[in-house]
Amino acid sequence: LELGTRFKSSKEARAGLGRGSSEERPVDLTVTHAGELATCSAAGLGWGPAGVVEDGAFLVKGGKVAWVGTSKELSRRSFGKVRVIDAEGCLVTPGLVDPHTHLAFAGSREDEVELKSSGMTYKAILEEGGGIGRTVRETNAASTARIVRESSPRLAQLVRNGVTTVEVKTGYGQSVKGELKLLRAVAQLSRLSEAEVVTTFMGLHAAPPGFKSHSEYARFATREILPKAAEFAPKPSFSDCFCEEGIFSRDECLRYLRASKALGMACKVHADEFSYSGGAEVAAEAGCVSADHLGNSSRAGLRDMARNGVAAVLLPATSLFSGIGYADARMVSEAGCAIALGTDLSPNSWVESPQLVMSLACSALRMTPAEALLGFTRNAAVALGRTDIGSIEAGKSADFVIHEVPRHMFLPYRVGGSYVRQVFRKGRELSLGP
Ligand SMILES: [Zn+2]
Repeated sequence: LELGTRFKSSKEARAGLGRGSSEERPVDLTVTHAGELATCSAAGLGWGPAGVVEDGAFLVKGGKVAWVGTSKELSRRSFGKVRVIDAEGCLVTPGLVDPHTHLAFAGSREDEVELKSSGMTYKAILEEGGGIGRTVRETNAASTARIVRESSPRLAQLVRNGVTTVEVKTGYGQSVKGELKLLRAVAQLSRLSEAEVVTTFMGLHAAPPGFKSHSEYARFATREILPKAAEFAPKPSFSDCFCEEGIFSRDECLRYLRASKALGMACKVHADEFSYSGGAEVAAEAGCVSADHLGNSSRAGLRDMARNGVAAVLLPATSLFSGIGYADARMVSEAGCAIALGTDLSPNSWVESPQLVMSLACSALRMTPAEALLGFTRNAAVALGRTDIGSIEAGKSADFVIHEVPRHMFLPYRVGGSYVRQVFRKGRELSLGP
């Protein structure tokens, strides 16, 4: 089949063959013989929730997916000279999307592993001068160049593990100067990385020393830091806050989120991580794109989220590292929320492996392997308000990963090694380094 021809069968039309096929641009590449092509498409392509096509194949044209089907269907077509990638029975998935990280920081907190294993809680470590307070001090003492130098390898490791789009939050500056420095660092990371970086300004993360209360700091951050972050170029895509009992209240978060929206930023909330704090309700009321953590949310709050189209981002690796309870994924799902997963890569839970998070999602949250994969693909895209990434289907960005395992069930099953063979974004192969 020549690319200029029209496609006739309903099966081909369903696979999106017709769209974009009359363009003059040549095919960039073809991918064939995927043992399992997990399209993660919602369009009914393939079988099961992960949209699996056995012996799958697809075409990439102009950086976008142009057609999806089987290798047998592909073999009946001709394209002239084109790069052919033989996936050789491997699993092919969409490029992974990590919708929640705090990877831009300086320093480390490896000594807290022992404190935690001796039984100290996160809050107790914080009170002793560790935790986020320590990262804020170290990050504020570091130059932009040092933050970029220390954060780049974390971003590179995510890419090696199949991540093509990653959200990065600020929040360790906690002053006008510190937060603008972090926004500069994230902008530099974005320029340096072949992956796409989505920037979130996290204005309410914790209150630094020098403020009488969290309330006083919330007022300061909303009035003084937020407008300057909104003026930063490139403008952060999202604004985020930590709604938690004893940290920032529902009202403080609502005021902050409304001000963020008025300044043209979409919103996210860290909700109900340590205790029920009404964070899910805040996310629904403020019209957030996502609410994240949700370990202690109420059924009513989750239903509010679903009614308002707020995606749920679950972060089980944080529970593992902080010794706090896991979110109830079944309750979140029954409430009707799309479930995304994230690494929450931070100095507290330094996790660079989406695969580990998928494994925890299956073992601790009792999600299925297909749900876990959707959590890092289609639903993670939803949590970033995106429709152009997160699945392999005609018209979407050609972001995909070839994994050296035969089926998607292996992702949560065979954990601890590295099984990513190749990573592509917009049809271009990314360098995975040495
Ligand atoms: Zn977080």
